[in-house]
Amino acid sequence: MNIINKVRKNILELTPYSSARSLNLNGILLDANENPYCNMGITENEIDINRYPDPFHTKMRKRLSEYLSIKPENIVFGAGSDELIDLIIRIFCEPGKDNIIIPKPTYGMYEVAAKINDISVNYFDLSKYFQISQENFYKSMDANSKILFLCSPNNPTGNLLEKESVINIIKSFDGIIVIDEAYIDFCNIEFSFINELNNFNNIILLRTFSKAWGLAGLRLGYALASKEIINILLNVKLPYNISALVSNLFFKVIDKEEIKRKNIDLIISERNRLYKELTKIKEVTKVYPTDANYILFQADRHIELFNYLIANGIVIRDRSSQIINSLRVSIGTIEENNTFLLNLRKFYETSN
Ligand SMILES: *Cc1c(COP(=O)(O)O)cnc(C)c1O
Repeated sequence: MNIINKVRKNILELTPYSSARSLNLNGILLDANENPYCNMGITENEIDINRYPDPFHTKMRKRLSEYLSIKPENIVFGAGSDELIDLIIRIFCEPGKDNIIIPKPTYGMYEVAAKINDISVNYFDLSKYFQISQENFYKSMDANSKILFLCSPNNPTGNLLEKESVINIIKSFDGIIVIDEAYIDFCNIEFSFINELNNFNNIILLRTFSKAWGLAGLRLGYALASKEIINILLNVKLPYNISALVSNLFFKVIDKEEIKRKNIDLIISERNRLYKELTKIKEVTKVYPTDANYILFQADRHIELFNYLIANGIVIRDRSSQIINSLRVSIGTIEENNTFLLNLRKFYETSN
């Protein structure tokens, strides 16, 4: 696909902000109005916190490229994947004219980011098992549909999208397809679309350090895509979107595969336990299978239950605006999950 044809004209005509910092970082740096007296007494010696960070994330992209076995030119970092969602919409969609397509139900941020940018949203219903219905999708598409957002495993339903039907859609949609893989580490990595990057230059994968890596407070995510798309994202993003502190932490955690794996395994084992326990409760009328770190379920008197849990200091998510009678619970620690189950049982035992 010719990607350039899909990009907004004002973006193509943009002369990107050229960072004050030339590529040569050695020598006497008098180009960026920085303060040579560093750090305000902060003792994180390894960080030049008085200097602007590298706008091209060169070292980070190289390190992540080794981790993922993919080229650095196919990677861009964002301040969380939420930043990248906004950027992708701004690059491809003309405000007041173009639209994005999203399935129902899915992650809420695509719609919010579109509306902030005055981009309208076309919806299509997922099938009974929250898979893509080709027929529903085609009905939602029109001449101004620029981006399709998919999420696999899907939030809040927890299921993976079937690869074959996604590939069919990629082949037939004349636009950009974003596949959000925020939760991909909680399932078998084979289900990722990462290998499809070689086959299609119009797909963008989104990943994040907020979930499986346990670093939501860090604000770090990344997009994987063709070089054409990555270069446009690099031109349009704010030059210094990844701070020196975030970059420093990235290098500290990227080697800790064992800790990451251990946490994921524990979360998955708790997910399986919680799933089983929920299915035993009569008033929990449906528990949806999940490949993520949360479980969607339907329950009798779900609003009362939700409020009861809140009153007992347990916060879960009401998803009944998207799926009737439904609540979504994230997998916590063993103790947290036990307290959640205890209170849930208590609610139905005492309030009948
Ligand atoms: C949590 C989540 C994200 C993560 O966003 P960050 O900005 O990286 O924290 C992205 N997509 C989906 C579907 C999510 O649920």
